[in-house]
Amino acid sequence: MHELALAESLVGKIVEISVEDNISVITSVTLLIGDLSGVDKDALDFALPFVSEGTLLEKSKFIYERVKLQVKCDDCDKESYPEVPIIVCTHCHSDNIAIIAGREFVIKEMEVESV
Ligand SMILES: [Zn+2]
Repeated sequence: MHELALAESLVGKIVEISVEDNISVITSVTLLIGDLSGVDKDALDFALPFVSEGTLLEKSKFIYERVKLQVKCDDCDKESYPEVPIIVCTHCHSDNIAIIAGREFVIKEMEVESV
């Protein structure tokens, strides 16, 4: 399962940062998941508690924020939010577009308790 590997690397990265910063407990982690990131939020939410067991994230709450796909059209120069998988400008239906947002899978913020 792709999300299990993803959860493992995410938890590994957070633990690494936390050790450097003398953080003892992580109370919540907010993740940004773009429409085009390929990340299945439900599968990730299922995997994270397993992977977090026995780590600083054991009692952490995971919060997920969706980042909508946003594009800028090269033809009409407008920005729009098409629905995946039909990635075209919603104004003129051109596919001559640049993706501005929606690919991200990042940690937005963490609430922590320090030692
Ligand atoms: Zn357009």
